[in-house]
Amino acid sequence: QKFVYRFGAGKADGSAEMRELLGGKGANLAEMSNLGLPVPPGFTITTEVCNGYYANGKKMPEGLVDQVDESVRYIGETVGATLGDATNPLLVSVRSGSRASMPGMMDTILNLGLNDETVEGLAIRSGDRRFAYDSYRRFIQMYSNVVLDVKHENFEEILEHYKHQNGYDLDTDITADDWRTLIEQYKAVVQRKLGKPFPQNIEEQLWGAISAVFDSWNNARAIKYRELNHIPESWGTAVNVQAMVFGNRGDTSATGVAFTRNPSTGDGRLYGEFLVNAQGEDVVAGIRTPQNITEVARVEAGSDKPSLETVMPEAFKEFVAICHTLENHYRDMQDIEFTIQEGKLWMLQCRNGKRTTPAALRIAVDMANEGLISREDAISRIEAAQLDQLLHPTIDPKAKRNILTIGLPASPGAASGEIVFSPDDAEKLKALGKSVILVRNETSPEDIHGMHAAAGILTARGGMTSHAAVVARGMGRPCVSGASALRINAELKTVTASGVTLKEGDIITIDGSTGQVIQGEVAMRQPELTGDFAKLMEWADVVRRMKVRTNADTPRDAEQARKFGAEGIGLCRTEHMFFDTDRIMAMREMIVATDTDGRRTALAKILPMQRQDFIELFEIMQGLPVTIRLLDPPLHEFLPHGHTEIVELAQSLDIDPATLRARVNQLTEQNPMLGHRGCRLAITYPEIAEMQAAAIFEAAVEAGKRTGKPVVPEIMVPLIATKKELDIIKDIIVRVANDVQLATATKIDYQVGTMIELPRAALRAGEIAETAEFFSFGTNDLTQTTYGISRDDSGAFLGDYLKAGIYSADPFVSIDTVGVGELVKLASERGRATRDKLKLGICGEHGGDPASIAFCETIGLDYVSCSPFRVPVARLAAAQAAI
Ligand code: ADP
Ligand code: MG
Ligand code: MG
Repeated sequence: QKFVYRFGAGKADGSAEMRELLGGKGANLAEMSNLGLPVPPGFTITTEVCNGYYANGKKMPEGLVDQVDESVRYIGETVGATLGDATNPLLVSVRSGSRASMPGMMDTILNLGLNDETVEGLAIRSGDRRFAYDSYRRFIQMYSNVVLDVKHENFEEILEHYKHQNGYDLDTDITADDWRTLIEQYKAVVQRKLGKPFPQNIEEQLWGAISAVFDSWNNARAIKYRELNHIPESWGTAVNVQAMVFGNRGDTSATGVAFTRNPSTGDGRLYGEFLVNAQGEDVVAGIRTPQNITEVARVEAGSDKPSLETVMPEAFKEFVAICHTLENHYRDMQDIEFTIQEGKLWMLQCRNGKRTTPAALRIAVDMANEGLISREDAISRIEAAQLDQLLHPTIDPKAKRNILTIGLPASPGAASGEIVFSPDDAEKLKALGKSVILVRNETSPEDIHGMHAAAGILTARGGMTSHAAVVARGMGRPCVSGASALRINAELKTVTASGVTLKEGDIITIDGSTGQVIQGEVAMRQPELTGDFAKLMEWADVVRRMKVRTNADTPRDAEQARKFGAEGIGLCRTEHMFFDTDRIMAMREMIVATDTDGRRTALAKILPMQRQDFIELFEIMQGLPVTIRLLDPPLHEFLPHGHTEIVELAQSLDIDPATLRARVNQLTEQNPMLGHRGCRLAITYPEIAEMQAAAIFEAAVEAGKRTGKPVVPEIMVPLIATKKELDIIKDIIVRVANDVQLATATKIDYQVGTMIELPRAALRAGEIAETAEFFSFGTNDLTQTTYGISRDDSGAFLGDYLKAGIYSADPFVSIDTVGVGELVKLASERGRATRDKLKLGICGEHGGDPASIAFCETIGLDYVSCSPFRVPVARLAAAQAAI
């Protein structure tokens, strides 16, 4: 079996395609060799060996030693040196390298092959004692740290002490004899710590290093990194053994790191840094301030240290040419490591460079314009979810942050404002033109108006799927939830964190992308869909099949969504319109009424307000489709619960508090999520549906007149389980539609459809489609009812489920394709079998999740609907799904 793949001298056993077996570093070293680039020769021990090593209780497989020995000889022959030879020693690096790039997470050892004897050989042969001793001390430090577990600090302490004693500033001040003295001190530390000397046997060093690299696959850093980046443990790491080239060989030598384009802005010019007379990670470690590679960058940075372009013009020219070769070859921005030894350039690594989101957009659009990649490639290159970062005001990265505490990053974006502790105060101050941050222990549906009025929401309790978090995301309000260090005193209107007590009116800033809570105001950047971002969206729109609509309850949401390119409203939740202070009174009057007449009187007050809402929405949407859902939540959500509030309400409604309390109690449910809600309300109180239908149709006529674009409302009945429910409610809607058409002498095109959000409805979709003209999958409730889990309570155990691997993702964030998704698929098929033009969409939170959107594409939905701020994410994800 082949455990080892060689590279160097213009050819290689492997190639870039073999990254699973050779790791990213090994595969690209092979590829660069095949391209004829100057790569120091070496070989890669495969990831399979790593996996076997772990499977066999950390034993190396039989036959590996022979293959490694042979390949070490190959390296030696290629460079003309021999490992362990006292007069002409070969030095190698032993480098980690997994399939996915895990920068700095695993270990690498440089200058292996040195001991007390070979270092003298190196000194004589190179004619540079300082270089030889510098290399040896580096090796002792790295090897001790990685293999022997004697930490860096031990050596750094000695070095610092020595420099101080001798009045040295920089490592470059240290002479050959100094290093020799230090080497003795370094070895003494190892002897003291381990009770045995630093290993002089070079075979032992080599195998110690190889095992250590395998072991570093499971160091704490690497494990954490894999967890955060969803990298499976089973991938393993490869080990690369490679002839050393020396950037620490005097003033004609250097080492550096470069990106073929700027990784933070996407600017198309080469960007990088280097150090003269240095090795390996000196650049990154910040031992000295590195120099710019290009002269342009040096001038822009205002640096007085010369660029590589001026100090080593020949090597620079070759390097620039290689950068072009690599970018054209990989068709992506490259992150490159190189070393120059005595004027000769060597390539040590290349990979697709990590970049910020703005840089990713710019690079993708530029490369497509340059003809390097196709527009489809450009679209596929951007991770849809990361666009979210660009769609909210964000804190200026240069701004100073006085952090009070950190909670959960529940809804992205940042906001500054005055602290308020109640939704009513939020509304009042907003009306005065103030920006406010609503600070609560937690929020409930009654707080909606205050959440809407607030620029941002901060809660002490609740997780990422708490009410505050979900509603805030829907509204595009920044939110930090679960900031448990906050002590809120709503009575005194104060909040304390980190020993600082703030009162109502004090300014704070929250950063919903990081969870930071910051004292005072901080400079912000506004989001806009312009430039490269807009261009990429344009391309995405050409490619995608599914439409992208928005979930919008207010004109403001609708306007925002239009700016982001929404092609209609997929869900307008009418209940959110009732939480406004003046409206909720009429709503409460309706709920408290004991008979139909009483309810009708109250509803008559609501009708004009509701009509006005719809007129505004329809006007903004300019004839684009608008799906309006009839009243959904249980009525008790509109009623007050506290004693004083009930008494107050009774007074203003002019009824007996006891009667009101009785009504409140009567409406209270054990399990409201599965209670008297959705279409069940319209079955019991048809007059509610009547009023809503009238408001919708009258508004459609009016808005159609104003805009000159006919409105085609889509009326959506929530939570049906049976066809019969929909039949009854559709009859009401049709009757009202006829009345309005007659009264206004206007023909209205409209559709009546339903949300599919109960498993029974999904199963009976075939017959429901006889009545329904469209389905919208309400996957929030469908997930709750399919799993039998209340989303609001799932926080208590979801973490355990994820950790135990029972769920691979939160099913409320990314659709469970095989369970809930299966129901969606089946309902789509059964629905379309009955009515082949049946319009199908999704309006749960999943409608803005890229993985869920990809699933929607596979089952042929017509559109996805998501919150306004997710619309660009959905446009891109839908395009990617169609490619
Ligand atoms: P990481 O994955 O952490 O970047 P690397 O294996 O790339 O680790 O190596 C760390 C540093 O050592 C890099 O700067 C690299 O360029 C340098 N290096 C690795 N191998 C050699 C070598 N054979 N000759 C000179 N420098 C090397
Ligand atoms: Mg590297
Ligand atoms: Mg629902």
